[in-house]
Amino acid sequence: MEISPWDNAMAQLDKAADFLNLNKDILVILKNCERINIVNLPIRRDNGKIECFTGIRVLHSSARGPTKGGVRFHPQVTLDEVKALAFWMSMKTSVVGLPYGGAKGGIICNPQELSINEIERLTRRYTSMIGTFSPWRDIPAPDVNTNSQIMAWIMDTYSMNVGETSLGVVTGKPIDIGGSLGRETATGQGMLYIMEEFCKKTKQKLDSSTTIAIQGFGNVGSAIARFLYERHNCKIVAVSDEKGGVYNPDGMDMIELKNHEQKTGSVVEFDGTTFISNEDLLRLKCDFLLPCALENQINDKIAETTEAKTIIEGANGPTLSSADKILEERDIIVVPDILANAGGVTCSYFEWVQDLHSFFWDLDRVNHELKRILAHAFDDVYKMYEKEKTDFRNAAYLVGIARIARAIELRGIYP
Ligand code: NAD
Repeated sequence: MEISPWDNAMAQLDKAADFLNLNKDILVILKNCERINIVNLPIRRDNGKIECFTGIRVLHSSARGPTKGGVRFHPQVTLDEVKALAFWMSMKTSVVGLPYGGAKGGIICNPQELSINEIERLTRRYTSMIGTFSPWRDIPAPDVNTNSQIMAWIMDTYSMNVGETSLGVVTGKPIDIGGSLGRETATGQGMLYIMEEFCKKTKQKLDSSTTIAIQGFGNVGSAIARFLYERHNCKIVAVSDEKGGVYNPDGMDMIELKNHEQKTGSVVEFDGTTFISNEDLLRLKCDFLLPCALENQINDKIAETTEAKTIIEGANGPTLSSADKILEERDIIVVPDILANAGGVTCSYFEWVQDLHSFFWDLDRVNHELKRILAHAFDDVYKMYEKEKTDFRNAAYLVGIARIARAIELRGIYP
């Protein structure tokens, strides 16, 4: 039976809570999401008929500040998945030390079957009805199948509702209306910084001899692919998307691959490559495997057979808890999502700060701050990893949970 993302997240929490001997009162708070909003979204389709969609927003914890987390549009969105993603956001913002809690949202829909005008109407209706968005309460951002244009509609809808332009209500906006330089590629950029720190600490090379396989070629996957290719000349041997993957043991040109993907809508059939399935990609012999698509990709079967040396999680929740155990036994290190892909939310934090100050930074400042904050977070986790002799994910949880627990204790329970 397939384990759900929420059960997976709770298994990770239980492991860390046992390790920390966490106060049971704190544990019960962390195991329950603060708020769950589910709304019915009627929109008029272009053919004149009304159709109803379901929208979800889960606020997991606001103990450390306003809640932060993306909104995804996908036919397989479930409440269980959104709860898990909201929980992971609480952990992520805490591990990185951002003054936020965690949230996540989604609309159950297939955006490929909707026109751009229908997507706009759906986004505006969702923003109005979900009722939690505000710069001081709950700040959304892009996730799977959502982009800067959708964030612009969220900003505009909220602003119309409150009667004033509110830039800080959402991040991942276009630059012209309060977006931050570097936000589009910040998750990939952050992954690169984390990989560089990891290689420094473990005395590994990141150069033309380094082989890399990447699952998913969207915002996260294509950005990290380009950075590794351009900055370190790494050999990207396999890349995939939902239609399948491409493989070349000698490495591929990531700029050409992006052009091909933009022209054809998929990475498959890229010149000079052979087809590889998503499952085979996850098992490839390589120095780094980067899952950058969806949850639950690395199951026990993959964990038992993969020949990757290290896994860097670009996606949220790509590895099952049971698979984690197998990977640990096989000495395959997993740099967890809540650290590895935290560049996106960190740059979102910069965007929010810039919006609230109405003072905008240049790209050098954004990248400098991003590197500084992520290197610091990596260091905190690495120290915990060495001190507690546990796996990397658990070390990140120990850092994250301790900070949330402290905030809950200091604030106390109202009333
Ligand atoms: P995206 O929609 O831009 O890209 C998703 C990619 O995954 C696409 O290439 C798609 O074809 C591929 N894909 C979908 N289903 C697949 C499958 N079954 N097998 C293989 N490939 C598949 O999404 P994104 O923003 O790049 O997000 C990807 C992951 O990274 C998600 O888990 C998301 O939560 C996480 N994440 C995103 C950000 C961000 O800033 N966008 C930040 C942190 C984490």
